[in-house]
Amino acid sequence: MWFARFIDDLLSLLLPDRCAGCGRPGALLCEACRRRLVAYDGHPPRVADQLTDVRIAYVFEGPLRHALHQLKYYRRRRVARPLGALMAAHLRVHPLPCDALIPVPLHQERLMERGFNQAELLAREVAAATGLPLIAGPLVRIRATRQQALLDTSGRIENVADAFRWVGSAPPRRIVLVDDVLTTGATSNACAAALRAVGAREVYALALARSRRGAL
Ligand SMILES: [Zn+2]
Repeated sequence: MWFARFIDDLLSLLLPDRCAGCGRPGALLCEACRRRLVAYDGHPPRVADQLTDVRIAYVFEGPLRHALHQLKYYRRRRVARPLGALMAAHLRVHPLPCDALIPVPLHQERLMERGFNQAELLAREVAAATGLPLIAGPLVRIRATRQQALLDTSGRIENVADAFRWVGSAPPRRIVLVDDVLTTGATSNACAAALRAVGAREVYALALARSRRGAL
């Protein structure tokens, strides 16, 4: 992991940054793309009985969709910096009671495949910008699940039910779960169930983006 980061940092010294939204050289997320971001103002998902509240920063479209693809599928880890900063800015404007940030974990197999957990990279940026503690590790995905994007709402709920477990000492009371994209909320909801089972009292979900189509 440190090696990938080292290579990424080294490349950034040798090559100018390109905008993850439009590809123009310059910033990792240029001003023009930032202006095109659309704040999410839709309804929260219905599948969220374990979540105290759900916060979504932007609509998953346009430059943000491009930027997240760059991060996840082209493995441009540095793109997490501006995206995490956007989440931190959202949290500053819409604060949540929070003792710790916890990224939604990937299963070990997916983690090996991608080399990093994008939710953890985002959560690290949010933690650095806000000073909130980050706890990554004790919440684990114990089952490899199918890709949520391939399933309908009831399939998604079933797919992630009991997929998470907390393996540390007692978790903090008030937790903000961090993820990149939230669609039905089934994944965050299953994480919240695992956290509540070991004593967490308030579990919030903070996502960078959600599709306008909402629950697919
Ligand atoms: Zn751009």
